[in-house]
Amino acid sequence: MEKLDIKAKSSLGDFYLVSFTLKEGLLGIKCDCQAGRFMQGCKHKLAFLRNDSSILFDPEETPDFIKAVEWIKGSSYPPLMAEIDAAETIMLEHKRVLKNLYRKLEEGMKKRY
Ligand SMILES: [Zn+2]
Repeated sequence: MEKLDIKAKSSLGDFYLVSFTLKEGLLGIKCDCQAGRFMQGCKHKLAFLRNDSSILFDPEETPDFIKAVEWIKGSSYPPLMAEIDAAETIMLEHKRVLKNLYRKLEEGMKKRY
């Protein structure tokens, strides 16, 4: 088993530890932030999955970041991330459509006074 522990910036200025384990071709990713501990896709793990190096707390861990991203590329996560991104794009479009519809509804109701 191979393991990498990389510090990710927290919004409070300190860091969370994102841990990667590669075992028999399967990649596990954990984060010790509150959302991460409840097994949710926290923003720290998602930043690694999106190859976003701005999440790095310590620039000296860049080689480990690159290695983690290589592990991710070889895993089953990229197709899932593509599906998530596509679903989020659709969701944003629908939110925009809904917002316009509610505005039209409000305008219509005001005109009747
Ligand atoms: Zn996290």
